[in-house]
Amino acid sequence: MKTEKSLRLYKKAVSLMPGGVNSPVRAFKAVGGNPLFIARAKGSKIYDVDGNQYIDYVLSWGPLILGHAHPQVVRALKKAVENGTSYGAPTPLEIELATLVKKAFPSIEKLRMVNSGTEATMSAIRLARGFTKRNKVIKFEGCYHGHVDGLLVSAGSGGATFGVPDSLGVPLSYISETIILPFNDTATFKSTVKKHWKDIACVIVEPVVGNMGCILPREDFLEVLRRETDKYGIVLIFDEVMTGFRVSFGGAQQFYRIKPDLTCLGKVIGGGLPVGAYGGKKEIMSLVAPEGRVYQAGTLSGNPIAMTAGIETLKILSRPETYKELESKMNHLEEGLKDAAFRAAVNVKFYRAGTIFCTYFTDKEVVDAKTAKNSDTEKFKRFFMGMLQKGVYIAPSQFEAGFISLAHTDSDIEKTVRVAYKTFKEL
Ligand code: PMP
Repeated sequence: MKTEKSLRLYKKAVSLMPGGVNSPVRAFKAVGGNPLFIARAKGSKIYDVDGNQYIDYVLSWGPLILGHAHPQVVRALKKAVENGTSYGAPTPLEIELATLVKKAFPSIEKLRMVNSGTEATMSAIRLARGFTKRNKVIKFEGCYHGHVDGLLVSAGSGGATFGVPDSLGVPLSYISETIILPFNDTATFKSTVKKHWKDIACVIVEPVVGNMGCILPREDFLEVLRRETDKYGIVLIFDEVMTGFRVSFGGAQQFYRIKPDLTCLGKVIGGGLPVGAYGGKKEIMSLVAPEGRVYQAGTLSGNPIAMTAGIETLKILSRPETYKELESKMNHLEEGLKDAAFRAAVNVKFYRAGTIFCTYFTDKEVVDAKTAKNSDTEKFKRFFMGMLQKGVYIAPSQFEAGFISLAHTDSDIEKTVRVAYKTFKEL
């Protein structure tokens, strides 16, 4: 595998940008080595500047559920660009995408388009605070909701704790408004809410956690969140930036049959362009400016190019056969990877929700942030490098999820399984 050009570019990039990248995990810090610079992508493959080809399971961290450069999306984008890239005024396209999103998510009665997942969660929290006139937010340990100041915080030791910021530049006073609880722990959740409900504006949760690998909610976890928040007038926010259109067409809320008050979306709804959205109950959304007094705005929000990519993506996802096809591809990959690990006698736990998956190097069940840390990250590093060198690109961190797309073929999956078997054997 030649990587001279990537290395040369990386050295140049480091002199221009912090860590040589515009988003931290891209820098390969968790796995060592230098990041690959990508020249182009098509379908299930990405190609780096040295001409290496990889089967891609990162898919721009989730959005490209149709695969890269899907012909229908590309055609529509070319046409849209000819009409101008942004007007800062309403367009019919915003109505079209909003309608498609609403169809998939019946809990969303009204929504607002933004430009990223971070903007969606940040705005949803402001809205929940405005609606309830309370300040505190409950989040769960290991859930990532974008780089929102008050959410860049990890848990202290167990139980209901007030944490410390994960990042410099986040005032302790902001963090003091965030309560961090362990994921999947209904008892701690119930007792915390009972004690602090008068101050709690909202609970924000990744209904399936994709930001510490892939962690599924226990049977009654989401149900308890719904019941308790209802009881105390707390706004329940599902952050479906990653799970939306991936756990199922209607996200984790459709799969688990729980209706949150607000939902945050991103990734897939932009079809590979920068889009986020937040939406939910009419009575809450009506508080957003200009209807109400919760301010939130964006120069490029709802711009016609991003809307076009989202519309074409959701149109294809709306076809009845699409999710059957995705499911069958994912089953194929899941069975293959589990079997490869078994034959190579490597202890792994494989989790999967719709088209999101993760392989942990542990023999213990992973149910929360603490148990995720049981995974042998040294082994993961070697696994990552082994897969990469043999032409399979997975996320460069144990605590990131993998994604599959409609463009992944049987032969891609079979090659992935062969490569995984070889790599497992080398561990
Ligand atoms: N929420 C979740 C669940 C996410 O996975 C992410 C991004 N990985 C975000 C929010 C933030 O989205 P963005 O990177 O578009 O700001």
